[in-house]
Amino acid sequence: MESNIKSVGILTSGGDAPGMNAAIRAVARAGIFNSMKVYGIYRGYKGLISDEIEEFKTNSVSNIIQQGGTILKTARSAEFMTEEGRRIAYENMRKHGIEALVVIGGDGSLTGAGIFAGEYNIPVVGLPGTIDNDLSGTDTTIGYDTALNTIMKAMDKIRDTATSHERLFFVEVMGRNCGYLALNSAIASGAEAAIIPEISIEKDQLGELIEQGFRKSKSSSMVLVTESDVIGGAMKLAERVKTEYPQYDVRVSILGHLQRGGSPTAQDRILASRMGIAAIQALMENQRNVMIGIRENEIVYVPFKRAIKKDREISEEMLSVLRISSI
Ligand code: ATP
Repeated sequence: MESNIKSVGILTSGGDAPGMNAAIRAVARAGIFNSMKVYGIYRGYKGLISDEIEEFKTNSVSNIIQQGGTILKTARSAEFMTEEGRRIAYENMRKHGIEALVVIGGDGSLTGAGIFAGEYNIPVVGLPGTIDNDLSGTDTTIGYDTALNTIMKAMDKIRDTATSHERLFFVEVMGRNCGYLALNSAIASGAEAAIIPEISIEKDQLGELIEQGFRKSKSSSMVLVTESDVIGGAMKLAERVKTEYPQYDVRVSILGHLQRGGSPTAQDRILASRMGIAAIQALMENQRNVMIGIRENEIVYVPFKRAIKKDREISEEMLSVLRISSI
């Protein structure tokens, strides 16, 4: 199909996620395959405003599918949140003849993309690039599977020391206000529990956990905790245990930024490749303001407004898997 769109810009924005490079590669190759000019925009919206834009050829994205991070760099841009910033960004797009954008990022990046597209009537398609898996309308996001595997490997190591010292460990993982990473890595690593924001709103998970009592025969206990204002983080929970339940020898491990790095898993590379190619396909079908999602292994188009809704519910079935498997 011959597309009306002759040129497309790609940028990565917000927090980096493993698999962003695989997505950049797929978008660039699919654009060129469909006779478009492809431009790499460096440092997200910041680079769109400061005109850090370069034309990509097929070999501009060679040898990157296996690399973590993003070759386009990423940044946060306060200027893009202003009308004046977005005007400059639009002028730069015009200057280079860029007709459409593919934005790879999280909910903030997609929110900005929607506003920009509305103001200037530009076709914009988003790809969900975030380890948090906190976007609605898609089963998973680029980077989530890699982060899950990274956490699982770290947990296996922490278990060795937790068992040797018969300790209770709180391990804090990313996710902001979304407990998917904590819940699924708790299941994958055989942890005793996950303390996640979705549940903390309703009840005191720590109190309940301690009152139930960890199984006596267990020589160690590991609890995954989502970094979140709702919970207050693993440190706060450990402080509470020290004062309220001094019988536990408690330690904290905050995994931090190591969760964002590393070579993407096969699953993330394949997901990013499929989504990247689907983004160009969507532009050719005159789709606008949609994020590419995946539902039941099929590519779907999710309107930005729906994608950023923050109405993702935690699976009762997964909660029950963790509860039953950790008795
Ligand atoms: P992550 O979930 O990994 O943190 P993110 O995409 O949500 O990624 P944010 O820092 O929230 O990361 O947003 C990235 C950038 O998107 C911001 O720095 C800003 O330039 C742009 N952006 C976010 N919200 C808006 C908005 N309301 N209007 C315009 N631009 C926005």
